[in-house]
Amino acid sequence: MLQDNLRAVNEKIGGRARLVAVSKFNPPEIINEAIELGVTDIGESRVQELLEKYDALKPVRIHFIGHLQTNKVKALMGKVDLIQSVDSVHLAECIDKRAEEAGIVQDILLQINITREESKFGIFKEDVDEVAERVHQMKNIRVRGLMYIAPETDDPENVRPYFRQMKDIFDRLAPSFGKDFDILSMGMSSDYGVAIEEGATHVRVGTAIFGARDYSK
Ligand SMILES: *Cc1c(COP(=O)(O)O)cnc(C)c1O
Repeated sequence: MLQDNLRAVNEKIGGRARLVAVSKFNPPEIINEAIELGVTDIGESRVQELLEKYDALKPVRIHFIGHLQTNKVKALMGKVDLIQSVDSVHLAECIDKRAEEAGIVQDILLQINITREESKFGIFKEDVDEVAERVHQMKNIRVRGLMYIAPETDDPENVRPYFRQMKDIFDRLAPSFGKDFDILSMGMSSDYGVAIEEGATHVRVGTAIFGARDYSK
């Protein structure tokens, strides 16, 4: 089943974007099975859960995609390849400091909340330029691009305009960051096809690969 799901998702992506398999709520055994089936990147959204599973995981690139509290940043240093969910200058400052202590440069994405959804984190469109400029100056952070979570919808066509806006913001910011600014992370199980059509370089797909998550655990 995992194998069939992965094949279907990879077929639909068709090499147009990088697949981040969102493995939250799944145990290391299942994640390792996915890695053996060719998954190169996984996404986790809770620090504690990631730390509990970390040692049992086969080698894989790890993306942190959940809301990150500053007091949890230190625990992630050296363990995650990309923090996709940087949503404030304050959090970036904290990552910059902890990365310096750890002697690393941390790759990050800025998470944008273009629809100003109350239920979601992320930088508002109006604030993106200022935040980007400030984070760009931090020595132990490398801004690799942007991340976006679209509103839930039955029809992915409904969120196409938001993906398009994200691509516009991405293209507008890219020149000031240079060639390292090359990641536009958008699209989940319900909408990654449309996200790729609108320029996503990375998609974050969980349910379509691992099945529905059991939140009771
Ligand atoms: C859980 C999660 C996903 C995956 O969602 P699915 O609908 O299961 O594909 C993607 N991005 C983020 C930020 C998530 O928290």
